[in-house]
Amino acid sequence: MEEKQCRRAVFPGSFDPFTQGHANVVERGLELFDEVVIAVGYNINKPGWIPVDERVQALRSFYAQCGRVQVVKHDGLTVELAQKLGAGHILRGVRSVQDYAYELQMADVNRGLSGVDTVLLPALPQLACLSSSVVRELAHFGRRWQDMLPDGLQYHINM
Ligand code: ADP
Repeated sequence: MEEKQCRRAVFPGSFDPFTQGHANVVERGLELFDEVVIAVGYNINKPGWIPVDERVQALRSFYAQCGRVQVVKHDGLTVELAQKLGAGHILRGVRSVQDYAYELQMADVNRGLSGVDTVLLPALPQLACLSSSVVRELAHFGRRWQDMLPDGLQYHINM
Protein backbone atom coordinates (compact mmCIF):
# COMPACT_ATOMS: atom_id res chain seq x y z
CA MET A 1 0.00 0.00 0.00
CA GLU A 2 1.29 3.48 -0.81
CA GLU A 3 2.28 5.49 2.27
CA LYS A 4 0.44 8.81 2.59
CA GLN A 5 2.92 11.67 2.36
CA CYS A 6 3.02 14.12 5.24
CA ARG A 7 1.88 17.56 4.10
CA ARG A 8 4.26 19.94 5.81
CA ALA A 9 4.51 23.73 5.70
CA VAL A 10 7.21 26.05 6.97
CA PHE A 11 6.02 29.20 8.77
CA PRO A 12 8.99 31.59 8.77
CA GLY A 13 9.26 34.82 10.73
CA SER A 14 11.15 36.68 13.40
CA PHE A 15 8.47 36.06 16.05
CA ASP A 16 10.12 38.68 18.26
CA PRO A 17 7.82 38.12 20.12
CA PHE A 18 5.25 35.53 18.94
CA THR A 19 1.77 37.10 19.12
CA GLN A 20 -1.81 35.86 19.09
CA GLY A 21 -1.82 36.72 15.38
CA HIS A 22 1.03 34.28 14.75
CA ALA A 23 -0.66 31.61 16.89
CA ASN A 24 -3.82 31.99 14.83
CA VAL A 25 -1.89 31.44 11.59
CA VAL A 26 -0.40 28.23 13.07
CA GLU A 27 -3.84 27.04 14.22
CA ARG A 28 -5.39 27.61 10.81
CA GLY A 29 -2.32 26.20 9.07
CA LEU A 30 -2.92 22.93 10.94
CA GLU A 31 -6.30 22.67 9.22
CA LEU A 32 -4.52 22.69 5.86
CA PHE A 33 -1.32 20.79 6.62
CA ASP A 34 -0.36 17.72 8.67
CA GLU A 35 2.60 19.58 10.16
CA VAL A 36 3.62 23.20 10.60
CA VAL A 37 7.28 23.99 11.21
CA ILE A 38 7.77 27.38 12.83
CA ALA A 39 11.12 28.68 11.58
CA VAL A 40 12.42 31.36 13.93
CA GLY A 41 14.65 33.56 11.80
CA TYR A 42 17.64 35.36 13.14
CA ASN A 43 20.41 37.56 11.92
CA ILE A 44 23.69 37.38 13.77
CA ASN A 45 24.18 41.13 13.29
CA LYS A 46 20.71 41.99 14.62
CA PRO A 47 20.19 40.19 17.92
CA GLY A 48 16.60 41.40 18.21
CA TRP A 49 14.55 42.10 21.33
CA ILE A 50 14.30 38.58 22.69
CA PRO A 51 17.40 36.39 22.17
CA VAL A 52 16.66 33.90 19.41
CA ASP A 53 17.31 30.83 21.59
CA GLU A 54 14.76 32.10 24.09
CA ARG A 55 12.25 32.65 21.27
CA VAL A 56 12.77 29.03 20.18
CA GLN A 57 12.62 27.55 23.71
CA ALA A 58 9.46 29.45 24.64
CA LEU A 59 7.71 28.25 21.47
CA ARG A 60 8.87 24.65 21.97
CA SER A 61 7.38 24.67 25.48
CA PHE A 62 4.21 26.36 24.27
CA TYR A 63 3.65 23.73 21.55
CA ALA A 64 5.09 20.78 23.52
CA GLN A 65 1.72 18.98 23.60
CA CYS A 66 1.13 19.45 19.90
CA GLY A 67 3.08 16.85 17.96
CA ARG A 68 2.13 18.50 14.66
CA VAL A 69 4.06 21.70 15.39
CA GLN A 70 7.85 21.83 15.28
CA VAL A 71 10.03 24.82 16.09
CA VAL A 72 13.45 25.38 14.52
CA LYS A 73 16.00 28.17 14.49
CA HIS A 74 16.88 29.31 11.01
CA ASP A 75 19.18 31.89 9.43
CA GLY A 76 19.17 30.99 5.75
CA LEU A 77 16.81 31.02 2.82
CA THR A 78 13.35 29.74 3.70
CA VAL A 79 13.16 27.67 0.52
CA GLU A 80 16.36 25.83 1.44
CA LEU A 81 14.88 24.96 4.82
CA ALA A 82 11.63 23.88 3.16
CA GLN A 83 13.53 21.59 0.81
CA LYS A 84 15.64 20.16 3.64
CA LEU A 85 12.50 19.38 5.66
CA GLY A 86 10.55 18.06 2.69
CA ALA A 87 7.98 20.82 3.11
CA GLY A 88 6.01 21.63 -0.02
CA HIS A 89 4.71 24.99 1.15
CA ILE A 90 5.59 28.18 2.96
CA LEU A 91 2.89 29.58 5.23
CA ARG A 92 2.51 33.32 5.83
CA GLY A 93 -0.08 35.68 7.30
CA VAL A 94 -1.37 38.86 5.68
CA ARG A 95 -2.71 41.79 7.70
CA SER A 96 -2.89 44.56 5.14
CA VAL A 97 -2.41 45.48 1.49
CA GLN A 98 1.16 46.42 2.36
CA ASP A 99 1.77 42.92 3.73
CA TYR A 100 0.10 41.48 0.64
CA ALA A 101 2.30 43.39 -1.81
CA TYR A 102 5.43 42.21 -0.01
CA GLU A 103 4.23 38.61 0.38
CA LEU A 104 3.25 38.38 -3.28
CA GLN A 105 6.75 39.38 -4.31
CA MET A 106 8.40 36.96 -1.88
CA ALA A 107 6.09 34.14 -2.95
CA ASP A 108 7.06 34.75 -6.55
CA VAL A 109 10.78 34.74 -5.76
CA ASN A 110 10.51 31.59 -3.66
CA ARG A 111 8.47 29.72 -6.26
CA GLY A 112 10.96 30.76 -8.91
CA LEU A 113 13.92 29.60 -6.81
CA SER A 114 12.60 26.22 -5.84
CA GLY A 115 9.04 25.48 -6.90
CA VAL A 116 7.98 25.80 -3.25
CA ASP A 117 4.66 27.63 -3.22
CA THR A 118 3.34 29.98 -0.54
CA VAL A 119 -0.04 29.83 1.16
CA LEU A 120 -1.22 33.20 2.48
CA LEU A 121 -3.78 33.34 5.27
CA PRO A 122 -5.62 36.61 5.83
CA ALA A 123 -5.38 37.84 9.43
CA LEU A 124 -8.56 37.65 11.47
CA PRO A 125 -9.92 41.22 11.59
CA GLN A 126 -9.70 41.29 15.39
CA LEU A 127 -6.03 40.26 15.27
CA ALA A 128 -4.92 42.26 12.25
CA CYS A 129 -3.65 45.13 14.41
CA LEU A 130 -1.26 42.86 16.31
CA SER A 131 2.38 42.91 15.39
CA SER A 132 5.63 42.13 17.15
CA SER A 133 6.76 45.71 16.62
CA VAL A 134 3.66 47.07 18.42
CA VAL A 135 4.43 44.76 21.36
CA ARG A 136 8.04 45.97 21.48
CA GLU A 137 6.92 49.59 21.30
CA LEU A 138 4.44 49.17 24.16
CA ALA A 139 7.07 47.41 26.26
CA HIS A 140 9.52 50.21 25.55
CA PHE A 141 7.07 52.76 26.92
CA GLY A 142 6.21 50.64 29.95
CA ARG A 143 2.70 49.81 28.75
CA ARG A 144 0.92 46.48 29.08
CA TRP A 145 1.66 44.19 26.16
CA GLN A 146 1.30 40.68 27.65
CA ASP A 147 -2.33 40.36 26.46
CA MET A 148 -1.12 40.38 22.85
CA LEU A 149 0.70 37.09 23.35
CA PRO A 150 -1.13 33.75 23.34
CA ASP A 151 -2.21 32.55 26.78
CA GLY A 152 0.47 30.31 28.25
CA LEU A 153 3.42 31.50 26.17
CA GLN A 154 6.21 32.57 28.48
CA TYR A 155 9.58 34.16 27.88
CA HIS A 156 12.04 33.80 30.72
CA ILE A 157 13.86 37.10 30.37
CA ASN A 158 13.38 40.54 31.87
CA MET A 159 11.43 42.70 29.47
P1 ADP B 1 8.78 38.87 9.45
O1 ADP B 1 9.88 39.61 10.14
O2 ADP B 1 9.26 37.81 8.49
O3 ADP B 1 7.66 39.70 8.85
P2 ADP B 1 7.03 38.34 11.66
O4 ADP B 1 7.44 37.55 12.85
O5 ADP B 1 6.77 39.78 11.87
O6 ADP B 1 8.15 38.03 10.61
O7 ADP B 1 5.74 37.70 11.00
C1 ADP B 1 5.74 36.39 10.51
C2 ADP B 1 4.51 36.16 9.66
O8 ADP B 1 3.33 36.32 10.46
C3 ADP B 1 4.35 37.14 8.51
O9 ADP B 1 3.77 36.46 7.42
C4 ADP B 1 3.37 38.16 9.04
O10 ADP B 1 2.66 38.79 8.01
C5 ADP B 1 2.47 37.25 9.85
N1 ADP B 1 1.75 37.97 10.91
C6 ADP B 1 2.27 38.83 11.79
N2 ADP B 1 1.31 39.31 12.61
C7 ADP B 1 0.15 38.73 12.20
C8 ADP B 1 -1.22 38.83 12.63
N3 ADP B 1 -1.57 39.65 13.61
N4 ADP B 1 -2.14 38.08 11.99
C9 ADP B 1 -1.78 37.28 10.97
N5 ADP B 1 -0.52 37.14 10.50
C10 ADP B 1 0.44 37.86 11.12
